[in-house]
Amino acid sequence: MSGPVRLLVVGSLNMDLTVTVPRLPECGETVLGGDAARTPGGKGANQAVAARRLGAEVRMVGLVGDDVFGDQLREAIAAEGVDVAGVETAADAATGLAMIMVRSDGENAIAVAPGANAALGPDTARDAAGGGAEKALLLQLEIPVDACEAAAAEARRRGMLVVLNAAPSPRAVDARMARLLRLVDLLIVNEGEAAALYQALRRSPGSGAPGHDGVHDGLHDGVHAGVQDGVQAPGRDGAAVAEALRSLGPDRVVVTLGADGAAGAGPDGTFRVAAFPVTAVDAVGAGDAFCAALAIAVADGTSLPAAARRACAAGALAVTRRGAQGSLPRAADVDALLA
Ligand code: ADP
Repeated sequence: MSGPVRLLVVGSLNMDLTVTVPRLPECGETVLGGDAARTPGGKGANQAVAARRLGAEVRMVGLVGDDVFGDQLREAIAAEGVDVAGVETAADAATGLAMIMVRSDGENAIAVAPGANAALGPDTARDAAGGGAEKALLLQLEIPVDACEAAAAEARRRGMLVVLNAAPSPRAVDARMARLLRLVDLLIVNEGEAAALYQALRRSPGSGAPGHDGVHDGLHDGVHAGVQDGVQAPGRDGAAVAEALRSLGPDRVVVTLGADGAAGAGPDGTFRVAAFPVTAVDAVGAGDAFCAALAIAVADGTSLPAAARRACAAGALAVTRRGAQGSLPRAADVDALLA
């Protein structure tokens, strides 16, 4: 290995405000909860910290508001060793905020106010991708799609690996999203996001999408079965959906399947990786740890199935601890689980 992988994250920073409640309130109702926790979050920042803990050199580009939360978020990821010179302050916006209610059984309801994240423009994103010496760009969908597209186009022009975690789930694959997907080398989605993209793929005429035949109806139902009932059929469906999603543009696609591990597809075929058996405490952060680990390993030249196995180890470790950034594992923990 020639030193640590250098990674650029262009993405979101949010302050997470979490209240534990005995039950989620109905419309118009107030429920008394426990103490509120205020923790740094946002998929961009979480994945930047995850990558740093896993040994990468990480530069983060994003926007916070001109308020105390903004300073705290910047300080939190700087304390982890992430380069925050590109985390700027938007003059007229508040810092992104996630209001999270968690029921005692772990189920939650979340409302996000994107704030400054929504003000990240394509010029800033393009300059970010053009201004460094990173091997890979890691994106999520908590900043505007046109900013992602501008960063991806520039990164691609510079020969960087472009990785997109299409989360939160895109509502539709409009023209901009379709253009972004065509600039992506490695797409990472969970079951819900995979189902949303797969549905969009089927709806778009002339996209090269699979037709309305029995095989693909089966796949579609398979993904939904996994989402609705937790009964993802082992072995086939995730990998077949990953293969279908390659027609949106990305050469490599990985679908995370929670406690069932992950599945993927690339130019060398499809594969399935089992989850590492762990005692799950809190699933928050698992996806972010997975994405960071996968991006680093693929950027470092690891084959996609081996990279996905390492990412599953990182995701499994994250579910054994509570919290988002606080629960993210270090490279040595992942090495130990893989040994
Ligand atoms: P997201 O949180 O984005 O929905 P997943 O729930 O699919 O993502 O989790 C991401 C990855 O974390 C999975 O692919 C798996 O490797 C790991 N993981 C998640 N939940 C568990 C679990 N209960 N046991 C072991 N590994 C898990």
